[in-house]
Amino acid sequence: MSVTIPHYIGGQRVEGTSGRSVAVFNPASGAESGRVALANPADVRTAVEAAVAAAPGWAETTPLRRARILNAFLRIAEERADQLAATITAEHGKVHSDALGEVQRGLEVVEFATGAPQLLKGEITEDVGTRVDSHAVRQPLGVVAGITPFNFPAMVPMWMFPVALACGNTFILKPSERDPSAALLLADWLKEAGLPDGVFNVVHGDKEAVDALLHDSDISAISFVGSTPIARYIYETAARTGKRCQALGGAKNHMIIMPDADMDQAVDALMGAAYGSAGERCMAISVAVPVGEETANELMARLESRVRALKVGPGTDAEAEMGPLVTRAHLEKVRGYVDAGVEEGARLVVDGRGLKLQGYENGYFIGGTLFDHVTPEMSIYREEIFGPVLSVVRAKSYDEAAHLINVHEYGNGTSIFTRDGDAAREFAHRIKVGMVGINVPIPVPMAFHSFGGWKASLFGDHHMHGPEGVRFYTRLKTITTRWPTGIRSGAEFVMPTMK
Ligand code: NAD
Repeated sequence: MSVTIPHYIGGQRVEGTSGRSVAVFNPASGAESGRVALANPADVRTAVEAAVAAAPGWAETTPLRRARILNAFLRIAEERADQLAATITAEHGKVHSDALGEVQRGLEVVEFATGAPQLLKGEITEDVGTRVDSHAVRQPLGVVAGITPFNFPAMVPMWMFPVALACGNTFILKPSERDPSAALLLADWLKEAGLPDGVFNVVHGDKEAVDALLHDSDISAISFVGSTPIARYIYETAARTGKRCQALGGAKNHMIIMPDADMDQAVDALMGAAYGSAGERCMAISVAVPVGEETANELMARLESRVRALKVGPGTDAEAEMGPLVTRAHLEKVRGYVDAGVEEGARLVVDGRGLKLQGYENGYFIGGTLFDHVTPEMSIYREEIFGPVLSVVRAKSYDEAAHLINVHEYGNGTSIFTRDGDAAREFAHRIKVGMVGINVPIPVPMAFHSFGGWKASLFGDHHMHGPEGVRFYTRLKTITTRWPTGIRSGAEFVMPTMK
């Protein structure tokens, strides 16, 4: 079958040599919309060679010039945000307004990266010794690669490549094979903005392409975002092959609702955070923890009707609050978790499994689903479902609620809704999670801060974008200088000291 979604290597769209491809579907209709090429090691090597060839020229391009190209890209992408969002909706399924939000959050990282000259300023100390100066600079790594998940086909690549390019690296993106088209638009627009060929490349593919990237000795660093088992594999393999690596994994984000919380605000927040993007967000809230029976009863009373009233529809419907899931396989997996929750004894308050939409019978839809009386042993509590399924775990005290979060395998995001400053401060200070919200349900850091979780939600030392991104995509060099002054101290055989 012919490929309709090719790779992008050395400034051109290329079909590759593998002869392998996989179907891409429109999740709202269930219809096949194209076939994406799957790279073999030879295709990956072609992309690496293009990136290697472009690397010296790009590294020598001044940071100001790099920033100007990123600025031109930013303007193009802002003008065409609607087109990019429509492409995302067609392959991912999320509603158009949400896709536009994704594009905006991604472009904010581009905006951050346009500060390249400022971001790359080094440090200098005059007179570290007599007439001796030291300065430290951050230099590019060379060729770096990004491997990204289906749930943010534009934003997650933009967490990576704008900073990598600003720092003077060349980049190979391996997007999710489930929604690969957004990456090609980004590649086209970068070229239009003046990016030299080979600086940004896209190879589509599955494990075969990823393994080829991991084992290519010309690649210095790997950024990964996806599920935890693959993140762990990527990190371990990258370590063995001597690459710098940041691998962000899955999540199970809790929201604590204290008895003094503004309940209207908390319920609104939960609805968006649990059901927005059909729960296919690594920062989605999938567990609500009301503290005290009264809080729990009040929360449930308000949530149930709201979940039943959720407007589910194709992402192109301006009225829809939630679209379909990404694939039929994922729909079956999420349905399976709802079955498991019932079997394990949780109380199914709203069941989304029966949802049918007229005219979209083959789409991958499931309605908003709500469980009460979920307990920590249940699989629906322990595992990431990645669908519109909210579990309510009732806690007797703040300590019990916080303990749940601290011992959970994942530590991506969390939030607390309260009016109590002491409780909020205690939570922010002690909770073992990377991104924390106080009366903010999805505390995704802005582009000039860094994004990343703790525990099984991130393997590696660096979070993404912001200052951590700049550190990840550069390596430090420290230069110590003394100019001849006519003073001779003779040969020194002991460690130089400043006595
Ligand atoms: P995934 O792990 O299935 O895929 C991610 C990437 O890895 C894709 O490019 C895919 O092609 C590749 N891949 C898949 N299987 C592979 C294998 N066996 N070997 C090598 N590469 C492989 O993840 P997904 O389903 O696309 O995305 C959803 C997951 O991503 C969720 O777990 C979600 O929490 C996570 N996620 C995390 C963050 C974060 O910031 N922590 C952000 C977004 C998504």
